[in-house]
Amino acid sequence: MSEKLLVIGESRDGSLRNVTFEAIAAAKKISADGEVLGIVCGDSDLENQAQEMIYYGADRVITVKHDNLKTYTPEGYGQAVMAVISDESPTGIVMGHTSIGKDLTPKIASKLEAGLISDATDIDMEDGKAVFTRPIYSGKAFEKKIITSGITFATIRPNNIPALERDETRSGDISTKDIDISDIRMVIKEVIRKASEGVDLSEAKVIIAGGRGVKSADGFKPLEELADVLGGAVGASRGACDADYCDYSLQIGQTGKVVTPDLYIAVGISGAIQHLAGMSNSKVIVAINKDPEANIFNVADYGIVGDLFDVVPMLTEEIKNM
Ligand code: FAD
Repeated sequence: MSEKLLVIGESRDGSLRNVTFEAIAAAKKISADGEVLGIVCGDSDLENQAQEMIYYGADRVITVKHDNLKTYTPEGYGQAVMAVISDESPTGIVMGHTSIGKDLTPKIASKLEAGLISDATDIDMEDGKAVFTRPIYSGKAFEKKIITSGITFATIRPNNIPALERDETRSGDISTKDIDISDIRMVIKEVIRKASEGVDLSEAKVIIAGGRGVKSADGFKPLEELADVLGGAVGASRGACDADYCDYSLQIGQTGKVVTPDLYIAVGISGAIQHLAGMSNSKVIVAINKDPEANIFNVADYGIVGDLFDVVPMLTEEIKNM
């Protein structure tokens, strides 16, 4: 049977998140000869998003438009995705391992009594079966998993499986599925966002993370300047969040966000195991700490022993002058 993979698109402020394109690339790895079908849900601008999915490799996209899909709810999106699954009978479903992906996919998979592999960082094909690699024990080891029967559900960790090159010459069918999503028990009336600027942490290619060593909210300023010159995002350890130097939305680690940027600069962070759980798979790790014995140096590719208030501004100046 030829494979048909359904990729669930995820958007923010009317644009698809990059992890959607990475999910398409993941689906293509599983289904090189089969079909990659996309779904986008929302209340407006869905055609543009569908077209983007096609430029990034989807063969066909279904849009589901309804006022009750303006903001994600598990019931609303669940109904839309279930309706498309029932029409199309895909062999697999792929989505980003984001807050929404982590919430939606287990709910649908359990309804269908299907297996789910979450937080995959790579996919290989062996004997026609997709073998998913995923981190375990807070990133200290990796396991390889396959689903032996039924529909395969998978969520993929952002920044691990590269998206295909965007290609505007690609074409594909875009169709609309009409379903009534009025019969839901919860509707989001308003989303009040905390002010957050700059690059999204989970998709950032460069992260400058501050720990308790920054000593105050103002201590984050040099890190923000370095992030600006590198086009990166600012993150934090729980130590810094607990000390009220920054918002918990910046927390990276076991109980915060899991990130895999190309470059992670840990500043004034000791390197507790719970912090490493969220960042140790970053491609290049640089640690800046005044304590040469700090555990963060054990996972760092490059280490600078020194006072962060001297080192970080110096780095920013050097990079500005490059
Ligand atoms: P510290 O351990 O206090 O380290 C501060 C570092 O800054 C030190 O290494 C010091 O040498 C250095 N420093 C100080 N001044 C300077 C200076 N001027 N220049 C350079 N370096 C300087 N932590 C997380 O980060 N994320 C999580 O998700 C998380 N989840 C947890 C879950 C549980 C169940 C538990 C029990 C803990 C969790 N923690 C988490 C907390 C974790 O154990 C550590 O307490 C925390 O990571 C420490 O933060 P820190 O490295 O910023 O602070």
